[in-house]
Order: sequence, then C-alpha cells, then structure tokens
Amino acid sequence: MSRFILSLDQGTTSSRAILFDHDGKLVASDQNEFPQHFRQPGWVEHDAVEIWDSQLRAARGVLATADVSAGDIAAIGITNQRETTVVWDRATGRPIHPAIVWQSRQTAAICDELRARGLEAEVRRRTGLVIDAYFSATKIRFILDAVPGAQARAERGELAFGTIDSWLLWQLTRGGVHATEYSNASRTLIFNIHERSWDERLLGELRIPRALLPEVRDTSGVFGVADAEWLGAEIPIAGMAGDQQSALFGQGCTEPGRAKNTYGTGCFLLSNTGHDAPESQTGLVTTIGWGIDGDFVYALEGSIFVAGSAVQWLRDGIGLIEHAKDTEALARSVDDTGGVYLVPAFVGLGAPYWDERARGLLIGLTRGTSRAHIVRATLEAIAYQTRDVVECVRRDSGIELATLRVDGGAAENDFLMQFQADVLGVPIERPAVLEATAFGAALLAGLGIGFWGDRSEIVAADAGLRLFEPQMSADRRESLYAGWGRAVERSREWSDG
Ligand code: ADP
Repeated sequence: MSRFILSLDQGTTSSRAILFDHDGKLVASDQNEFPQHFRQPGWVEHDAVEIWDSQLRAARGVLATADVSAGDIAAIGITNQRETTVVWDRATGRPIHPAIVWQSRQTAAICDELRARGLEAEVRRRTGLVIDAYFSATKIRFILDAVPGAQARAERGELAFGTIDSWLLWQLTRGGVHATEYSNASRTLIFNIHERSWDERLLGELRIPRALLPEVRDTSGVFGVADAEWLGAEIPIAGMAGDQQSALFGQGCTEPGRAKNTYGTGCFLLSNTGHDAPESQTGLVTTIGWGIDGDFVYALEGSIFVAGSAVQWLRDGIGLIEHAKDTEALARSVDDTGGVYLVPAFVGLGAPYWDERARGLLIGLTRGTSRAHIVRATLEAIAYQTRDVVECVRRDSGIELATLRVDGGAAENDFLMQFQADVLGVPIERPAVLEATAFGAALLAGLGIGFWGDRSEIVAADAGLRLFEPQMSADRRESLYAGWGRAVERSREWSDG
C-alpha cells in the first residue's frame, strides 16, 4: 500500500518537491533554485531544461531525505508558476527558445497591437483576462516570430506549446502525454473560459496554429505515468493546477464565497465564485479554479505586485531592518504610523488600478516620524492593498467574505494578520502549515487516484488553524482606509517612462 503523495511545486525562482502522508501531514521537502535570465531590460526568461533538471533533482532529493522509495508514492501532483511559456520540438523534446516568464514585459508591443485592433472587450469576454504581457498567448507569438521557420513548423505539427505543467508532464512521461488542465489553460489568453475550449477567434487573431496546443483535461485525474527511469518506478501523475488555484483548493476554499490570499513577493487573492464566471468591472480577472468531472469552478483574482517584496526593500533597499521578521516587533512598538502611509508602487500598481506609471510614495512624514512608523506603514500597506481587492470582489460578485484564508511567507507575521482582520472587518484564518500551494496539488492528485476518498479523511488539513478576529472600530477602520485611498491617488501616473 503506497503511503505518500509527491507534490511538485515548480515556482518562479525554485523547484520544490514535498511529500504528504495520508493524514495530509508534510513529511519532507526539498528545493532547488535555478537561474533567471535577463537578456534585455524588462525581459525575464528561464531555461526550461534547467527547470526540469531542478525539479527532478528536488523529487529525487525528497525521496532520499525521507528514505522513501518510488513504490511508496501513490501519485504525483504538479503545481506551477502560471503563464510561463515553453515551445519545444516534439521530435527531440528540446525547447526552441528560452521559456518566457509571466513577469516578462517583452511582449508589450504585441499587446499594444492587439489593443489597437480593438480586441480588448472581446478578449475579456472570452477569456476573463485583460490584454497584458503577463499572459501566455503573446509569448507564444513572440517565440514563433523570433525563431526562424517556427511558424511553419508549428503549422506542420512539429512543435508543442505548454505552460510549465505541460512541460513537466511531457518530460515525466518521456513525451508520452501533451496535455494541460483547465486552471492553467485559463491563463493563456487563448482559452474560452465559458466554452472551456481553445478559442478559434483568438487563435486566428494571434495566428497560433491549433497543432501546437496541448489537450485540456480535468484538473484531478490520471494524466499519465512518470517513466520508471526518473524515480525508480512508474508513478501516475494524477493532478495538476496553476499555483494560485492550487492554493485555493489546498486552503479548502471549494465553496462559492470562500477566498484565500497568498502573501509572498506579491499577493494573490482568489475568491471562489462557484459556477458563475462574473466579468469584472473593477480590474480583477476571471479565471477557472478547477474542472473536475464536468464540474467547473470559477474564481475572481486580484494580483498585487508588491507585498512581501516591500519588506525586502526595507531590508535590502534602505536597510531599516535586518530580517523580515523584525518588522513585527517594530510595528508593535508604536500605536500607529503617526499618519504615515507607504504606497509600494515600485513597479506601478496592479489590481485594481493597473497603473504602470504609478511609483512608490511615502507620505505624511513629520519631524516625529521614526523607523518604526515607516516599518509599520509598510506592513499596513500590504493589508490596505488586500482590502482594495476585496472591495472589488464585493462589487463584481456581490460576495461579502465571511472569512479570509491566508498563506505564504509574510502570513507568518501576526501583526500583519491582525491588522488585516482589522482593516477588512473580516476574520482571518491561518492554517498551521502555510504550504497551501503544494498541498493543493497533492490533494488533487490523491483524490484523482483514490488515495483519499474525500477531503474529510485528511485529518491534518485544518489542524492548528489560527483565527484573527477584527478588533478595530468601524470608524477607525474607515478613516485609516480613506487615508490610504488619498495616498494612492498621489502615487498615480507619476513616471514619465
Ligand atoms: P515567494 O513564494 O513569492 O518567494 P514566500 O511565500 O516565500 O514568497 O514569502 C516570502 C516573502 O515574504 C518575502 O518577500 C519576505 O520579505 C516576506 N516575509 C517573510 N517573512 C516575513 C515576516 N515575518 N513579516 C513580513 N514579511 C515577511
């Protein structure tokens, strides 16, 4: 009887492998960083072969660490950095171009052209997304243009496109399976989230040949079998999902109205909207959470570009702190920020403002402003940005959050979590294990292969959940939040570039 599920968590800066047991407990993990390539300013690329190598080493590493053999693994689940685009040669399995990473702005000109053709409303209606270099389709176009002969080869069916889930699946199955699933497909800008199929009109607009595309399958269920060469025995791959959707699932936000926020470098808030796919009027995107057995769950998503990285800036940029965790005691050492706000628009503002020209701003300084005030204002800014997105969810879907589930590195900060509860007026639920992303993929795989019959069997899932109840008065909450709104206005449309 196999005892574990192996979760492969392929992130933007590292590839991780985590073993979960039948109780849902994290048994062991391993992690390898891999290089980021910046050939030109604003470009971010990965070598897909380095991704695969680092992922395979992590998988082998975690089995060695835990002294577990492949025969003890019931299934593999994959979760991945989303949107990042790989095009490879079907015959050799070699990428024909560096993988273009979600963060990369190298396709901004292609996006301008699509907008100039008046496609914005059509793209939103079909895909739930906005025309932005963030999503995969313009990255595919870029690669087919950049590599001589690629367009013709793609049309002849000699090339394959995949997001990182498809790429890893192809590698694990030694080219046996070219597939993706609904959550990843819904981030490509060529997938119709209502018809749940590749969108012919958008494929035509972008001249992306159908023969390039993976088959789109259920999020949970057997995709194929990892070759015995990789880990020592054949193992089924039984679940895949994009990282944020995986976290939503891992956090147990499977009912409409349930939401999670991941506090990492940036923040990603996803709110389950059930079978409805509301079109955002406020700057969120609509995405597929997962599709299982003909049941499709949608989510509204708000992406905040700078959250934990503002704390890194305090540490590495201006040297106000030595360690990220120092922020908690410093923030608590003062009663408030003394009227100081930090708007961390270091790379412009994401949801709901989408202002590329906004820049960071520190305002409300007086002769009495101290280091502690600035540190506190930095943490508070993370919470205010989250509230901005929650307000949009409310307007787009009519959903009033009853609670917000949290995960990610900065969710360890108790001050931040309490302030978040206060500024939202909504209780925060923090699980003991903040590895929701990897856990979600394990869950999808374990359910997909019958390792678990249903979620209630997983005793460790909600163990040690900590609740942060709002304590602030409504008056104070609204007056602080109004101040944030005024500060944001002053940060906008600042840069000329
Ligand atoms: P990612 O997966 O995006 O790399 P993580 O989930 O690992 O991010 O979280 C790391 C981020 O959280 C970093 O930006 C770091 O500055 C921030 N962070 C980590 N611990 C704390 C803390 N105790 N308080 C505030 N921020 C923190």
